[in-house]
Amino acid sequence: MPVPFLDLKAQYNSIKKEIDSAIASVINDSAFIGGKYVKEFEQNFANAYGIKHCIGCGNGTDAIYIILRMLGIGAGDEVITAANTWISTSETISQTGARPVFADIDNEYYTIDENLIEAKITPKTKAIIPVHLYGQVCNIDKIKSLCEKHNLYLIEDCAQSHFSQYENKLAGTFGIASSFSFYPGKNLGAYGDAGCIITNDDALAERIRKFANHGSAKKHEHEFEGINSRLDGIQAAVLNVKLKRIHEWTERRIANASLYSSLLHETGDVITPAIRENSKHTFHLYVIRTKYRDALKKFLAENEIETSIHYPAALPNLEAYKYLNIPPEDYKLTNIFQNEILSLPMYPELTNEQIHFVAASIRDFFSSR
Ligand SMILES: *Cc1c(COP(=O)(O)O)cnc(C)c1O
Repeated sequence: MPVPFLDLKAQYNSIKKEIDSAIASVINDSAFIGGKYVKEFEQNFANAYGIKHCIGCGNGTDAIYIILRMLGIGAGDEVITAANTWISTSETISQTGARPVFADIDNEYYTIDENLIEAKITPKTKAIIPVHLYGQVCNIDKIKSLCEKHNLYLIEDCAQSHFSQYENKLAGTFGIASSFSFYPGKNLGAYGDAGCIITNDDALAERIRKFANHGSAKKHEHEFEGINSRLDGIQAAVLNVKLKRIHEWTERRIANASLYSSLLHETGDVITPAIRENSKHTFHLYVIRTKYRDALKKFLAENEIETSIHYPAALPNLEAYKYLNIPPEDYKLTNIFQNEILSLPMYPELTNEQIHFVAASIRDFFSSR
């Protein structure tokens, strides 16, 4: 039974009529950049988060960069983030001229270890970017207190955590501003690159909106130089259709994760994902850990089960960050886990049969060794 890592076609088939007609409307109205579909999505997303402003932009990477720039972060500053995240989180810090500082992840939840952050704070530190990785929320209460204590900006990278919750409060509503990605494979995915920023700060929202549009709120009036990073109408129309179903899809992901975990209980040395207390993990990714990761991945591939690794190299190990000369003791767990983590197929349309097949294959792997 082939089990792809992701099946975007299955989701499209379930909403094809609505999507096709939404895209046709945008083309009919020539509302390609900005316009009513973008406005409608920004409104809908802000309402869904109970937050004042949502500003669409080109992608989730730009979203982080725009926030950092509009908070005035740049050369001479430092920004702390996790050693295990997608490179967007750290490359945008560098793009502003600031220096990325990596903190290790924790043993259980794989998010930034809140207890290791304070030691990384220096007089140059301006912000912390916790990443709610895999859909799992960070200990955001603790991180928020640290930010308050040291007068730092809290920026949440929510690219993998649409509608995740920490103590009944949505992840993305704790800091000064938060970034989202709508990359096609994300929990809320467009049909191309797309992203947004949410914030309750009126002045910041205004600056962000201008910066993402060449420093301009009105055609040919440029108050400052900006960049071109806008949400396009077709992506907004797709997102409007999908936003209505996100909660239903999230529940499917959670049910799939729970089935995986019950089937993989006491299988070899497999460690199934823990869920932080009083939180809602939205399972963008279902990540297990095993010392036999590479052999298991190969075995599953031979059984037509596609898996992935998020991420195969701790950021400090990448060529791009060699210049920082970060000692391995500074990201001990990330360094070990990069060789043990394995992301199993996860999406709302995954069937129970497929999950049973994946779990049975993993059990086969361990019983034959
Ligand atoms: C996907 C992702 C991003 C970047 O989003 P893009 O839309 O691909 O630019 C940033 N941070 C994390 C953690 C991500 O997973």
